[in-house]
Amino acid sequence: MAYKENQKDNMGGLPLETEKEKEELYLYSLRKMAEVNVESNRIPITQMYNLRAFLYKVGELVREYPEKKFAMIVLDIANFKTVNEFCGRAAGDSLLIAIAKGLRQYEKEDTVLSHFRADVFGLFLSFTEEQELVDITISMSKIIAQVSLACKVLPAFGIYVATDPTMPPSLMIDYATLALNTIKGKFYANYAFFDSQMRLKMLMEKQIENDIVTALETGQFTVYIQPKVNMKSGEIVGGEALIRWQHPERGIIPPMDFIPCLERNGFIINVDLYVWNEVFQLQGRRLREGKKTVPISVNISRLHAYQKGFRDSLCQLSKQYEVPPKYVLLELTESGFLEGSEVMFERMQEIRLDKFSISMDDFGTGYSTMTMLRNQPVDQIKLDRGFIEDMQNSRSRIIARHTINMLKELGVHLLAEGVETKEQQDFLLECGCTEAQGFFYYKPMPSEEFETLLDKK
Ligand code: C2E
Ligand code: CA
Ligand code: CA
Repeated sequence: MAYKENQKDNMGGLPLETEKEKEELYLYSLRKMAEVNVESNRIPITQMYNLRAFLYKVGELVREYPEKKFAMIVLDIANFKTVNEFCGRAAGDSLLIAIAKGLRQYEKEDTVLSHFRADVFGLFLSFTEEQELVDITISMSKIIAQVSLACKVLPAFGIYVATDPTMPPSLMIDYATLALNTIKGKFYANYAFFDSQMRLKMLMEKQIENDIVTALETGQFTVYIQPKVNMKSGEIVGGEALIRWQHPERGIIPPMDFIPCLERNGFIINVDLYVWNEVFQLQGRRLREGKKTVPISVNISRLHAYQKGFRDSLCQLSKQYEVPPKYVLLELTESGFLEGSEVMFERMQEIRLDKFSISMDDFGTGYSTMTMLRNQPVDQIKLDRGFIEDMQNSRSRIIARHTINMLKELGVHLLAEGVETKEQQDFLLECGCTEAQGFFYYKPMPSEEFETLLDKK
C-alpha cells in the first residue's frame, strides 16, 4: 500500500523510496538548509558563529554525541567598556580578535565556538575532567594578558557542566552566565562553576518574579516604620518606612531577599510607589486630625532616576494627600549617587526645587563621596552602621570621630544608623552626633504601632 502511494508521488522517475527514506531525505535537506544559514550567521569582526548559529550547533552536537560529557563556558571581559574608552576602539577590536584566535585552538568536531555579542564569547565542548575546563580559563587568561594594552583586562569565565542533555542550550548559557556574574569584575577569581546554590537562587528569583504581581494586587506588602530618635532626650524625631512582604506560604520575606531581584526586573518602581503612597496617606491623615507628626523617610531605588514620572509622582502624592514635602524625606543610598551619577544628581536637584529633602543613606559604604559632598549638597546623611560596629577598635573610633566632625563642619544634618548598644550611643554623643536609628531604641514596627507610639509620646 505504502509502495503504491509512493509510486504516485514519484514524478521524476527516480528510484522509489520508502516512507522512512523519504522522511530521512526531508530531514536531511532541512538540516542542509539550516547549515547553510548557520554558516552565514557569523559575527563580522571575529568570523565566529553568532548566538543563533551557536544554539543550533550545540543542539546538533548533543544529539550527535549522546554519550559524551559537555560543558558550556561563557567568557566576558568585565571592563571592556574601559578598554574601548581608554585604549581606543582599535585596541578593543584587537583584543576581540586575540580572544577569537585563542578560542580557535579548542576547535574540534565536538566543540562549538561563538562570539555572542560585543565582548561575550561562548565555548561548548566535550571534556573528561573538570580540571581541563579550568586549564582553558587559565590559558585564555594568559592569551588575553599578552595583548598589549594600556589598561589591565579582567576576563571572567562562567562554567556550566551539562548534566541533562535535553536541557535547552540557551538555559545552559543562562546558568554559565549566572556563575560568571558571581565573579565578574573581581580581582581574586576569574572563573566560577555553576552550582546547586546558584540554581536555588535562580529558582527563588523566578518564583519572586512570578509572585510579585499577585503580591502587589492582593496586598501582601505592608509598610513597617522604624523610629528615629534624639539620643539625648529619647524623643522620636522621625521614622523610616521599610517594606515587608508577607508571603502566603513563605512567611515574612526580608527586603534584601527580594529587592535586588525587583531592581533587576524593574518592579521596584511599583513597590516604592506603593510605599510612598502609604506614607503620604498616613501623614495626610495625621495632619488633618491635628496629631503629632514627624518626617518619615522613604527609600528611593536608583532606578527612579531614569524614570520620567519620578518627580511628578511625588509632587502629585504631596498634593493629593495635602502633605507638605518636609514630612516625607527621600533616602537614597550612597552607591546610588555614584552609579549614573549625573542623571541622579539632576533628578535630586530637581526634586529639591520642589522642597523635598534628600538623605544620603549608608554613608561610608561607597567610596568617592567626598568629592560629591563638595559639589552636591544633600540635606541629611545617614552614617552607615559599619562606622560604629567595632567600637573596641581604636582605629575605627578615630575614623568615626573624624568623619562625624567633617560632616558637622560641612553643616549637614547627621543621623547614625544601626545603633545597638549603649556604648555606641555614648560614643556618638561624645562625637556630637545626636540622632540615631537602631535596635537599641526601636525595631521596625507595623505603621499602626508607630502611630500609637507617636500618640503616647
Ligand atoms: P536601609 O535603608 O539601610 O534600612 C535600614 C535597615 O537596617 C533595615 O533593614 C533595618 O531593619 C535595619 N536596622 C535598623 N536598625 C538596625 C540595628 O540596630 N542593627 C541592625 N543590624 N540592623 C538595623 P531592612 O528593613 O531589612 O531593609 C534592608 C534594606 O532594604 C534597606 O536598608 C533598604 O535599602 C531596602 N529597603 C527596605 N524597604 C525598601 C523600600 O520600600 N524601597 C526600597 N527601594 N528599598 C527598601
Ligand atoms: Ca534607608
Ligand atoms: Ca541605611
